[in-house]
Amino acid sequence: MKVLKFGGTSVGSPARMKNLLDIINPTERQIVVLSAVSGTTNSLVEIGQAYLTGDKQKTITLIKLLKDKYELFIKELFTDDEFLKQGKEVIDYHFSVLSNLANDLFTTIEDKIILAQGELLSTTLYHVYLKQIGVPSVLLPALDFMKIDEDNEPVVDHITEKLTPLLDKYPQVNLFITQGFICRNAFGEVDNLRRGGSDYTASLIGAGIRSEEVQIWTDIDGMHNNDPRIVKGTQPIAQLSFDEAAELAYFGAKILHPQSVFPAQKYKIPVRLLNTMDPQAKGTLITNTSEKDKIKSIAAKDGITAIKIQSSRMLLAHGFLRKVFEVFERYKTSIDMITTSEVAVSLTIDDTTYLGDITTELNAFGSVELDVNHTIICVVGDFGAEKHGYAARVLEAVKHIPLRMISYGGSDHNLSLLVKTEDKIETLRSLHNRLF
Ligand code: ADP
Ligand code: ASP
Ligand code: MG
Repeated sequence: MKVLKFGGTSVGSPARMKNLLDIINPTERQIVVLSAVSGTTNSLVEIGQAYLTGDKQKTITLIKLLKDKYELFIKELFTDDEFLKQGKEVIDYHFSVLSNLANDLFTTIEDKIILAQGELLSTTLYHVYLKQIGVPSVLLPALDFMKIDEDNEPVVDHITEKLTPLLDKYPQVNLFITQGFICRNAFGEVDNLRRGGSDYTASLIGAGIRSEEVQIWTDIDGMHNNDPRIVKGTQPIAQLSFDEAAELAYFGAKILHPQSVFPAQKYKIPVRLLNTMDPQAKGTLITNTSEKDKIKSIAAKDGITAIKIQSSRMLLAHGFLRKVFEVFERYKTSIDMITTSEVAVSLTIDDTTYLGDITTELNAFGSVELDVNHTIICVVGDFGAEKHGYAARVLEAVKHIPLRMISYGGSDHNLSLLVKTEDKIETLRSLHNRLF
């Protein structure tokens, strides 16, 4: 059974929703994961912020603006009055959820309920649309099987346990529709898999049901060899290994949610990145194998803070790095890059929620310096341990750009550079021109 995920743009208009059946084959048993209609989650984020600041008028205005869009959406999606009425009931229900939250009791729990309405709306409307055109389908509530634990880690066994009987209940049905992004947390509350999380949902479901293939349908023909929003002339990559795709996703290639490769990788489920606007294009196939000896792609991750701890006394004494890492562990803050020298260690983080506390604790080990507004540039490919010349080519391409950190050798497929964010565009373009 395949899992097909369609992103925000792929369901971004009634016409696009209708066109999904050019791609979905309703005679094949499959699970279709939908994102919210493009722009909706951003609007829901704004609505949550308006609630949080207690700005009642703004809350009402924002909800009305979004509802107006959906009123138009259903008028185009449903040509039959009976189904238009059902569509109207769907949006009335979800917008009443949005409108009926109380400002004074507004917490992250309510905020996450707001964020969940986008995927609930898109999937329910699509399900009603399929009824209108007479295609049998079952709407599976993701909140019944998608779960994260206390550490916000998804629980694949729970998905298997809950989803399998749901699928078995409908042996005659081919088409199952479910929500991307949303889940329940360890307390049973509505939660989500972070922005862009529908890719993660698809991969998790794929892992949970040991799917034959996961397809991520989006608005571009696969993973490109550089960020197409910044660099001209980027090209799609036909094949990537799971490791290479994971590095690119984690280090900023927006086409994939940062964690989305791991569940599929664990169960060796091929992942295809495909273009809804050009379904015949080959896209990118992500599997266990990949082309050898090649620089494949470049990605960039912004919002990075570098932390340098200088301590001539202690640095390379045994146990020093453990103590440093323990500080980050206590504050559940993950480290992206690390470089060491005899007298100092530099590392980077992207989550600065606990930076103040972390800095205070690190001060006990030596002097601490922070560099904010940095970007990790990640060059990904197959650089086998026996190979040579890759690092030289990369460094030659960026010789005119100040580098704060360089990391190479952590794996066979990643060379990372830390640069000031103001130098990001030039770094990406220069690497692109010289490497491809
Ligand atoms: P969806 O809504 O379908 O999930 P996203 O906007 O999350 O789509 O991801 C697709 C977008 O990712 C593309 O439109 C493209 O601009 C951006 N992107 C960034 N880096 C890359 C890359 N290396 N390859 C392909 N797309 C990329
Ligand atoms: N709708 C969510 C978002 O915009 C999830 C997704 O699209 O993948 O982040
Ligand atoms: Mg996305």
